[in-house]
Amino acid sequence: MSASNKGFYGERKQTTCAYCGVGCGLDIELHNGKAVKLQGAESHPANAGRTCVKGTHLLDTLGEQGRLLAPQINEQTVSWNQATEYVAERFAQTIAQYGADSVAFYVSGQLLTEDYYVANKLMKGYIGSANIDTNSRLCMSSAVAGYKRAFGEDVVPCDYRDLEQCDVIFLVGSNAAWTHPVLFQRLQLAKQNNPNLTIVVLDPRVTATSEMADLHLQLEPGSDAGFYNGLLAYIACQGLINNRFVSEHTDDLFAALEKAIAWTPEKVASFCQLPLEQVQQAFQLFTSTDKVVSFYSMGINQSNSGVDKCNAIINCHLATATLGKPGCGPFSITGQPNAMGGREVGGLSNQLTAHLDIDNAEHRSLVQNFWQSPVIADKAGASATHIIDKMLSGKIKAIWIMATNPVVSLPEGDKVIQALQQCDLVVVSDCVDKNDTLAYANVKFPATGWLEKNGTVTNSERCISRQRGMIEAPGQAKHDWQIICDVAKAMNFSGFDYQHPQQIFDEFCRLSGEKNQGQRLFDISAMQCHSIEQYDTLKPQQWPLKTNKIGQLQYHRPFSDGRFSTTNGKARFIAVTPVLPELTAPQAAPRTKAQQDTPSTAQISLLINSGRVRDQWHTMTRTARAHQLNRHTSSPQLSIHPTDAARLNVDDGQFIALTSRAERVVLSAQITSDVKPGQGFMPIHWNRQFASHANAASLYRTVVDPVSAQPQSKQVLAHASKVLVSAQLHIAMTTELAEQFDANRLSFSQRCPQQGFVQFSLYQEQQSDCATELIDSLQDQFKAQLKWLRLMSSADGQQRLIAMHGDQLAIYVDYQTLDNNAVTAPPNSQWLSELFAQNELLNQHKTALLTGQVGDKFVNGEQVCSCFNVYQKHISQAIEQGANTVQELGEKLQCGTGCGSCKPELSRMLASADTNLIAMEKCQ
Ligand code: SF4
Repeated sequence: MSASNKGFYGERKQTTCAYCGVGCGLDIELHNGKAVKLQGAESHPANAGRTCVKGTHLLDTLGEQGRLLAPQINEQTVSWNQATEYVAERFAQTIAQYGADSVAFYVSGQLLTEDYYVANKLMKGYIGSANIDTNSRLCMSSAVAGYKRAFGEDVVPCDYRDLEQCDVIFLVGSNAAWTHPVLFQRLQLAKQNNPNLTIVVLDPRVTATSEMADLHLQLEPGSDAGFYNGLLAYIACQGLINNRFVSEHTDDLFAALEKAIAWTPEKVASFCQLPLEQVQQAFQLFTSTDKVVSFYSMGINQSNSGVDKCNAIINCHLATATLGKPGCGPFSITGQPNAMGGREVGGLSNQLTAHLDIDNAEHRSLVQNFWQSPVIADKAGASATHIIDKMLSGKIKAIWIMATNPVVSLPEGDKVIQALQQCDLVVVSDCVDKNDTLAYANVKFPATGWLEKNGTVTNSERCISRQRGMIEAPGQAKHDWQIICDVAKAMNFSGFDYQHPQQIFDEFCRLSGEKNQGQRLFDISAMQCHSIEQYDTLKPQQWPLKTNKIGQLQYHRPFSDGRFSTTNGKARFIAVTPVLPELTAPQAAPRTKAQQDTPSTAQISLLINSGRVRDQWHTMTRTARAHQLNRHTSSPQLSIHPTDAARLNVDDGQFIALTSRAERVVLSAQITSDVKPGQGFMPIHWNRQFASHANAASLYRTVVDPVSAQPQSKQVLAHASKVLVSAQLHIAMTTELAEQFDANRLSFSQRCPQQGFVQFSLYQEQQSDCATELIDSLQDQFKAQLKWLRLMSSADGQQRLIAMHGDQLAIYVDYQTLDNNAVTAPPNSQWLSELFAQNELLNQHKTALLTGQVGDKFVNGEQVCSCFNVYQKHISQAIEQGANTVQELGEKLQCGTGCGSCKPELSRMLASADTNLIAMEKCQ
């Protein structure tokens, strides 16, 4: 739905969202230098006024709290000069002693293009190494390599408009409803306007996206290349190859067909574990129209054979000539806000810049001449996981990590920690003062964040937009491009005298056009901004750009002329041999004493998949600051099928431990038939800042695609076993006190920030006095400033305590020993919110806290709509009262009428109410 920009009264500026690769434009209202209102920008082509729940709550993430405010060396605050000189000197010394390849940068799709450009320039053109890689390696480097192999250039051949113009769309390895919600909203609307639009979803799980599908293929995890190879064979056998296009514009069809032809529908059905009829139906749908889109993301890319999967998809579009035209094409969607900008500047260690190749001597000399740089890297550098290996072997001795959190996101987090501990110099630039990676930094650089940073980003459809700085940065935070240029200048390099990001953007635009002559579609030289004013007024612009017959510059759909960026202008089919994920038997999990004493605690093997939840982003450093976003999924959960839950003897909410390597993760069970038996799904977001044992990446072994070096982060085999909890401790305390509280004192713990307070849940496995000792030490710690009240029930081992600061609630403790592993959910956060907000806590509320009597009005189930605070109970009541559609629920409760992210869940609640009704009717 399109939000209106009504209600903006003050100064309004446009920027782009800080989260996903959709790249929505946002209008911000400013008052006295503060951002006071946010709405989706109607004029932005990506979203036309829409936002999702994460974008909607961006203003709640601002503020000084939790920000890194000054540079530090070895935990000591220092001046910018000292920090910059120190890093420059240490890098220069290391390079002088061990060579250029002894240093590395690990950067991020969160950086703006200007930051990215200067980091790449410094490493490749001045230090002379290509040891710069980006965390986008983890999300879309397979897509990059797939496009490059097929088209000769990393060019996404589709636009968002294609989602509205197609007849059939295949969503492959993508839960777009949660990961790219605004595109999903556009698709929902397109389907509403054109009921003939057919949606096919290929996903091992039932998701909010698959629920909208006309056909859901719940295929075997990682088997997608088999499906698309079979589709290519089907296209050939049915005589549906577009011979004219193939002969005039492509090469190597027969090599690809040779590998694909054996993939009959029967073979596909067996490989993908799908019913044959579904495979045949899907093949018929793909070939029923010229307007077919394959929309794919991390489920395809994060694989040991991600590049082949991408090419298997592209092969089918080449064979049917369904690309380069409206409403069709192989459309890879990026994860991060500026992953595409990173691809443009050459942020990966095997790229140069502006789509030029590092292994091409002509390209290298073009870039070096343009930069007038002393050197140019002449071979690919280390990729993300390779950097870690080289740190461990002592080959890389200094690393600078910018705007990313590799301890959480790279596979084998323990190995990453070891590498950071071993490395002589670890520099981290970040805007937060704490995360799992900053804990290992020798030098910390405070960087600016969203609404402070000023530059450009490029979204998944190649649209370059301004991300505008409009509020003051806190403390001494500096822009990333400034920090990089300051270090470069301190290293005595001369090409970094920029005063404003406009100058960097201008240079980058010029470089993209240098000696290009149409050889590379990435040519944005026409977007040069000669002045800050021009830069500040830059409107969102898609590339490629071409001059039309009357000399005007216009957007030109890639490959619409059938010419590709290869040397002979033809696209290439790639022969693909489908393989399944590389899985290693998990290490035997050590059993706790409680498990040993309880024979019923079986250990089973599960194939674990991971991904995003609706309201969180990456490692939660930003989203967890918006308390509304912590309510939809407030703790890390493992989705597990009822048959597996029965094998493990666990109930909903009880804990399950997963082990694949040395590390163990512990998650509460969410029992659901959304996942198949033998499989599990866990979120990627939780890390040590929010849960002591819930980091998905720590389960993953380092298995990478041989072409793209992208890690396989979607499938891992793990041992699962039931966790027996002997005591639980739910603690809520004001945000200020929470800063001083160490939650890591029982077996495992979770932390959930709320408005003005933080909720902790701590669990003890073995019988011990740890929990009661913790309560005693907590009382001791805050004895001087707080007055404690306690109610103990010796019968059931339950204790509740409250600590008052004057008349205000400061701490609430709910402790319980558990006989039958009967863990309970943390106290109701809405209830606590109301009580923590009171200036004078009434006696009746103190009694309610001490007796655990949550007011009826707060018992509402889970939050469904984060925009209007609508909970399950309200929705169920409205359905009982006759609301039959999502629209009617919206009219009654407003749910779904803000960002629309909750609409799939509303549909699900309506459908399950229908099912109940039918079941009841059948019983009568
Ligand atoms: Fe931001 Fe949501 Fe748009 Fe993604 S879909 S850019 S998270 S508002």
